[in-house]
Amino acid sequence: MTSGVNPPRAPGDGTRAVRAGLPDPVAYEPSLPGPVFAAHFHLPGEAAGPYTYGRDTNPTWTHLERALAELESPDAPAEAVVFASGMAAISAFLLAHARVGDAVVLPDDGYQVLPLVREQLAAYGVEVRTAPTAGDAQLAVLEGASLLWIETPSNPGLDVCDIRRLARAAHDTGALVAVDNTLATPLGQRPLELGADFAVASGTKGLTGHGDLLLGYVVCRDPELAARVRKWRKVVGAIPGPMEAWLAHRSLATLQLRADRQSANALAVAEALLDRPEVSGVRHPGLPADPAHRQAAAQMRRFGCVVSFDLPDRAHAERFLAALRLVDDATSFGGVRSTAERRGRWGGDKVAEGFIRFSAGAEDTADLVADVQRALDEASAAA
Ligand SMILES: *Cc1c(COP(=O)(O)O)cnc(C)c1O
Repeated sequence: MTSGVNPPRAPGDGTRAVRAGLPDPVAYEPSLPGPVFAAHFHLPGEAAGPYTYGRDTNPTWTHLERALAELESPDAPAEAVVFASGMAAISAFLLAHARVGDAVVLPDDGYQVLPLVREQLAAYGVEVRTAPTAGDAQLAVLEGASLLWIETPSNPGLDVCDIRRLARAAHDTGALVAVDNTLATPLGQRPLELGADFAVASGTKGLTGHGDLLLGYVVCRDPELAARVRKWRKVVGAIPGPMEAWLAHRSLATLQLRADRQSANALAVAEALLDRPEVSGVRHPGLPADPAHRQAAAQMRRFGCVVSFDLPDRAHAERFLAALRLVDDATSFGGVRSTAERRGRWGGDKVAEGFIRFSAGAEDTADLVADVQRALDEASAAA
């Protein structure tokens, strides 16, 4: 006999993405309220209330912050704080918590602006230690540290570390742990469930996916830690505009569709590259033979849209990029239109001259793979 009442069912990623952060329905109002453009709000009497001044709070941020907290932490209450960019969010974690004499552990192969953050931390009297992402090498330099910054998968090398293991060791030494979740997005990996204190990300990349805005966020479960990050945002004023926040929220509705198509496209491109004699060092965490695959499969739910590989030299890489028709030669990643670039043009990353970072978009898989194959053929024919 059944009771006639179905048990509650946890919603899937697509359902969560389309509904994330929506307010309760209000008759004759849109399901996602439009952006609120306001520097200040009517504020009679006491200076209290949810909305006072536009650097402190904004209803458009509130909806987006609820959405991000739901996506990063579906099973436990969490708070999100949105920022003007990923770097603003990263700085909020590192600079709001580090004190003179503290030791901070960073990866030595992460996002290309981290060395500049390192300089800033050092200028404030903070000891900065670095170690590679691969092999959980940051474990070896954790003793006595107060903050651990993890970037997995790392950008652009696509190494993966064990978040659970590093977080446990960091907590044993009293450190707070943050994971850069930019590449994975919350549908690819949920750092808070793996033991991190903070999930921090650039929303500029795959999260919003259209290459038309910059955004960052910090999500954590501890309200006191969240309050500290919020206070930092107020002090530095690194706030997103309401239009960006609204566009970002609108874009979240398609996150599952984009993440699924883009990770499938990345895997197809990576597999096609494996068959090419002129291509070496193909990396993508979804490739079964990739050195990062086993750990990625243990903690990720989607492997992301980025593929990296080497062409024989700079000229070969430039011919390949110029021959692509469906793939724009541009930096950044995670957009619905595929992009690729020769990463060495920026300096800084430890990569060879022919190293390509490729970001798979939402094109039809066969079209994208064919475009890559044809561009590789043309680049080799001209050699
Ligand atoms: C782009 C990026 C950032 C910085 O984000 P912005 O929005 O450009 O400030 C940080 N971490 C990673 C891994 C990134 O790819």
